[in-house]
Formats: sequence, structure tokens, C-alpha cells
Amino acid sequence: MINKIKNILRYRQWFLATAATVGIFVFGTGIIIAQSIQSYDSTILKRLNTVIFIIEGKLDAADEIIHQLKPLIDSSCSTIHQKLIDKLVEYSEFQTLNIIKNSIVTCSTNPRMIQTAYVSPDRPNYKLSILESYILTPGKVIGAIKEVNNGNGVLITINGKVFYSILGNLDDKTDYQIQSPGMWFDKNGVIHKKPQKSNLIVSSEKYNFSVSSNASMTDYIDNITTNYTVIILFFAIISLVIGRYVFLNAQKNSSLFIMKESLADNEFIPYAQPVINSNGELSGLEILIRWNNKHLGLVYPDVFIPLAEASGLIIPMTTQLMEDTFHQLASVEDKIPSGFHIGFNISAQHFDQVNQSSLITSCEKYINSSLNAKAHVVLELTERQGIDNYSEVRSVFDTLHKMGIKMAIDDFGTGHSTLSYIKNLNFDFIKIDKSFIDLIGSDAIAAPLVDNIIDLAKRLDLAIVAEGVETQEQLDYLRTHDVDYIQGYFYGRPMPLNEFITRYLNKTA
Ligand code: C2E
Ligand code: CA
Ligand code: CA
Repeated sequence: MINKIKNILRYRQWFLATAATVGIFVFGTGIIIAQSIQSYDSTILKRLNTVIFIIEGKLDAADEIIHQLKPLIDSSCSTIHQKLIDKLVEYSEFQTLNIIKNSIVTCSTNPRMIQTAYVSPDRPNYKLSILESYILTPGKVIGAIKEVNNGNGVLITINGKVFYSILGNLDDKTDYQIQSPGMWFDKNGVIHKKPQKSNLIVSSEKYNFSVSSNASMTDYIDNITTNYTVIILFFAIISLVIGRYVFLNAQKNSSLFIMKESLADNEFIPYAQPVINSNGELSGLEILIRWNNKHLGLVYPDVFIPLAEASGLIIPMTTQLMEDTFHQLASVEDKIPSGFHIGFNISAQHFDQVNQSSLITSCEKYINSSLNAKAHVVLELTERQGIDNYSEVRSVFDTLHKMGIKMAIDDFGTGHSTLSYIKNLNFDFIKIDKSFIDLIGSDAIAAPLVDNIIDLAKRLDLAIVAEGVETQEQLDYLRTHDVDYIQGYFYGRPMPLNEFITRYLNKTA
């Protein structure tokens, strides 16, 4: 049964922890990946803009020369030819300088250009044309920049390398291309006539060309692994830490969730164990809580009380248990023997300022019921739980004592604070813990320890209850040592309260 609850909770615990770890990691790395793609794109865009800027600078220089040469159009070629040659030497990046008249090259730094049409007839009349050369360097990229009015003007051709060599200076992972209408070429000057794949593109605003990049998925992944590994590792660690936190909390929360539901469903029920006096007569009972869960079966308090205490659920749980007990006993009120004691285990936190009123209210209800005439309520406070503020607890004790409620120190002798408990608080009963009773008859060394504990209890002059009495030998020993009350399997195990009522109270009638 306990294994069953553990399995359910463990499954839930692993599920929640894994979901939290994976969820946070995926979310975190998702943001990092989006961020890295964005920053990678913006780096590429910067590079594309730089390429545009550099090429535009060169074209501007060509344009400037065109303006310088324009006034010479009408001069004869022989007078201006040397001037053209000089300019070309000055600007070595340009391939040829040409004068055009009536749409034909009439004067050029390169004789092969003479008499050619200044521009391919199937192209529109752009200021800049980038095209495949067919005269000077057939099959290679060439740029042509011109200013021609009414068939007369200046034309400068530029070696394609001037454009594509810049691409080679960018990073060598990404593919970059330059586009002009109907033509694409890469950093090696390889020409494509069909549109090439690109994901980022920047166009010159002054001239008729664009620069584009085609970053592949591997480029992005490379960028992430080189620049973001540390932060992704950091996220992995954070996810694991959070996952562990969830793991540790999940069990607590899921069992708490189940317990809250169970409380609403009245699954926490009173079991009762008889307490017998020195004459062998029934003198009372101790209420021991059980959790009767539809899935888990009967669960013992050792399993859930610590959690109920840690979560504060112990307060409504105890209130419900007390009310349930009073209700059941009220139905057999007239059969309860006189001087009967009804013991409840109360957690120390029930004496805290915020919780004490609930305890006092429960006791008041009892005091005002007719059951009060037949029995005493005994509240058992274990000395295993520490008490921070004795004066606070003492004042609650006083209030309860005035109402006629009795107090018992539970698990006597097992805590570290036996002495401060008995010094600070006013008890009516002492319950000697089972661990001491177990020593009776065990061996010679242990015996004085039992005697000492009984002795100490006696010197306090309080009524003594021995817990966990299982054998005749223990019983005889306790009787000869004048222990007043006996509780243990020897007389009876804890049983459902209604069964206790049938067995003990209906019988005594
Ligand atoms: P406790 O107050 O010391 O209760 C005595 C425990 O010893 C009970 O265990 C009882 O079943 C067991 N016992 C009694 N006689 C014998 C015996 O002869 N032999 C053996 N082996 N055991 C015996 P149980 O019912 O499992 O309760 C365990 C503890 O849970 C209790 O110890 C008490 O500290 C706590 N507890 C039980 N009910 C409540 C409750 O309503 N509220 C709070 N706060 N604690 C509770
Ligand atoms: Ca007890
Ligand atoms: Ca005990």
C-alpha cells in the first residue's frame, strides 16, 4: 500500500521534474537560437552593406572620371587618346576608358573596343551594367558604367574582379553573390543566369546591383556552437537545478494535493486503543488517526503526519478527528464508564498563536456537550517536537486546564527536552514511551534505565501511562512498580472507533 503511493508519487515526481527540465531547457535554448539567428543575420547584413559601400565608392570614382572626360567628347581621338591612357594608368582598377559617338566607340584605351556598340542592345539603358564580357575577357564578369546622351558620351569598363574579389574577403562559410538584372555571380566570378537562392539581400540605392547572402542551416548551427555554447550549457545547468528543485518538491506537493482531497472526503478516521487501569478495567482510549484511502487502503500516521505537519494540514485534520470522535461517542454517552479519558495527539504547532483558537474552540464544543459529564479530554503533546515559546504554550495550557481539559506528556524520556517540558508546562499525565517498556525483561544492563524513567515519572507526582505493553512480564513489572495505566497490544490493538464502541462500550452497559 505504501509502495503503491510511493510509485504513484514517484512517477508524478519524475514526470514533473523531467517536464520542468526539458521545458525550461527548450524554452531557454529557443530564445538563444532565435537571438543567435537574429544577431547572425544582422552581422551578415552589415557585411552586405559594407560590400555595397565599397563597390559604390569605386563606381563613384568611375563616374567622376566620366565627368572629367565628358568635355573631350568632341575632340579628335588622336588629341585625347594619350589623356585616356594617362587616366587609365592613374586608376588601374578600370579596364578601358572609351569615348562614344553615335552609339559607337570611337576612341578607346583598348583598340579592340573601337567600333563596338557601347552596350548590349538587349539591355535597358542603365548607368551601370554588370554583364558577361564578349569582347575583352569573354565569359567573365565585366562592369560597364557610362553616361551617354543622344548617342554621345563616355564609357568605362571595369574588371569583374573589382566586384567579386570583395566577396572573397568576407567570411568563407557563407555564400555571397552579386546580382545585376538577369545575372548572378559569386566570389570566384562564376556566372549564373538563373536566380540563385538567397535569404538576405541588400540593393544599392545609387546603382543597379544588389548583394545577397545564402546562409545555410549549418551556418546558423556553426554560429550557435561557436558563440553560444557557454550560455546553452549554463541553461542546461539551470534547467537541471530547477528540475531537481521540482523533483524534491513534487512529492510533497502531489501527496499534499491527495491529502487535501482526502480530508474533504473524510478519509481520515479515528482508530481507538484502550487504556486499562490498575484494576484491569477500561479507563479510556487514545485516538490514533488512520488514513483510509480508496486507492491506497489504510495508511499509518508515521507516513503522513510529518507531511500534514509541514503543510499545516494537521490543524483541520485534528479538528475533524476530534469532532468525529465526539460525535461517535455521543451516541453511546450513557455507556461510558465514569472517569473515562479520551486522548488525542496534538502537534506542537497547534499551540501557535494562529492555531490555538481552533484547538480551544474544539475543546469548548466538547465542554458544552453532554459528553463532558462522562469523560475527560486528554491532549497528548509529544516531547519529540521542540517548543520555541513556552510562555505562549503555557497560557494555552492554562486556558484549557480552566476548561477541565487534561494534558499529557507523550513519548516521555525520548526527547532532548524532557526536563524543560516538565519544568515549563503543567501536565496531568505522563506517557512512558514504548521503547522503555520494551527494555523490561530484555537484559540486566537495560533494567536500571526503565527503573529510572519510572522513578522520574513518579517523583513528578503525575498519573503514569505505560505505552506499548505487549507481554504479561511487562505488565507484571509495571504493576509492581505502581504504574497506573496500561496501553498496548497486550490489552488491545488500535481499532476503528465504531468497533471499539461495540467491543468495549456496548459491552460494559
Ligand atoms: P504515539 O502517540 O506514541 O502512539 C502510540 C503508537 O504505538 C501507535 O502507533 C500505536 O498503534 C502503537 N502501539 C500501541 N501499543 C502498541 C504495542 O503494544 N506494540 C506496538 N508495536 N505498537 C503499539 P500509530 O497509531 O501508528 O501512531 C504512531 C504515531 O503517530 C503516534 O505515536 C503519534 O505520535 C502519531 N499520531 C497518531 N495519531 C495522531 C494524530 O491524530 N495527530 C498527531 N499529531 N499525531 C498522531
Ligand atoms: Ca500518543
Ligand atoms: Ca510513543
